[in-house]
Amino acid sequence: MKILKTVEELQNIRKTISSNVGFVPTMGALHNGHISLIKKAREENDIVIVSIFLNPTQFLPGEDLDNYPRRDEADKRICELCKVDYLFMPEISTMYEKEEVLIKAPNKSYILEGKTRPGHFDGVLQVVLKLFGIVQPTNAYFGKKDAQQLTLIMQMVKNLFLCVNIVPCEIVREEDGLALSSRNIYLDSNQRKDALCLSQSLFMAGALISRGERNSQIIKDRINEVMKDLDIEYIAIVDREFNEIDTIEVKNTIILIVVRFGKTRLLDNIWL
Ligand code: AMP
Repeated sequence: MKILKTVEELQNIRKTISSNVGFVPTMGALHNGHISLIKKAREENDIVIVSIFLNPTQFLPGEDLDNYPRRDEADKRICELCKVDYLFMPEISTMYEKEEVLIKAPNKSYILEGKTRPGHFDGVLQVVLKLFGIVQPTNAYFGKKDAQQLTLIMQMVKNLFLCVNIVPCEIVREEDGLALSSRNIYLDSNQRKDALCLSQSLFMAGALISRGERNSQIIKDRINEVMKDLDIEYIAIVDREFNEIDTIEVKNTIILIVVRFGKTRLLDNIWL
């Protein structure tokens, strides 16, 4: 595995590759969720490129940019074990200039995640577009865990006529159901126990729907009951284009939950 720091190095290598390139962009502190994306990319492509870049433009002032877990050495070992060909680890100054051509995410980026974190998705799309420009992947792998991000990236690819195939990947969970996240390490033991309510309520909603329930409000009420006293930021039931829906459409619905545990926000969702 080669570790690359500059855009020129990666672009020069890219010019020599004529076969399929699978790309997995990450912010590091790699866990089994990231690893599942890398493994899928490894299975489906000749060359695998992973990026680790803690992108400052997607963090709002006061968010956890400065405290975000960094584990560069462990991440390098994981990528090596997963047989990654190239690991791109640029500095901020490599990725951004003082003044930039900016990408503006559409209105749907200001609901749900974007309502609490206005501007977050502008930063996400900005960095993903830059990375696509450098890597020029055939296939790029994103987790369904960040459902709104995935949807907006797919829209960007469509709107900007980018030549990349986006591959949505299933959510990887702990054995007890908690969706893996780099931010889970912020939870204390009580919060860790309470955090199980997210996946449990989503699985319960999935079971209700498979028994025939189609009313979104009833499902939201039942999720609320499971969450009891937790600090719920939102429960949303949307179609695959992120329009809120009153009636569940099987195969076209995502149920999303965000709960706050102190300063830590945990996201989870299921795709029906
Ligand atoms: P991040 O490092 O948080 O930017 O995540 C990098 C990629 O990993 C994104 O596409 C995430 O959606 C994906 N990801 C994060 N957690 C999980 C998970 N538990 N299961 C599947 N994919 C995940």
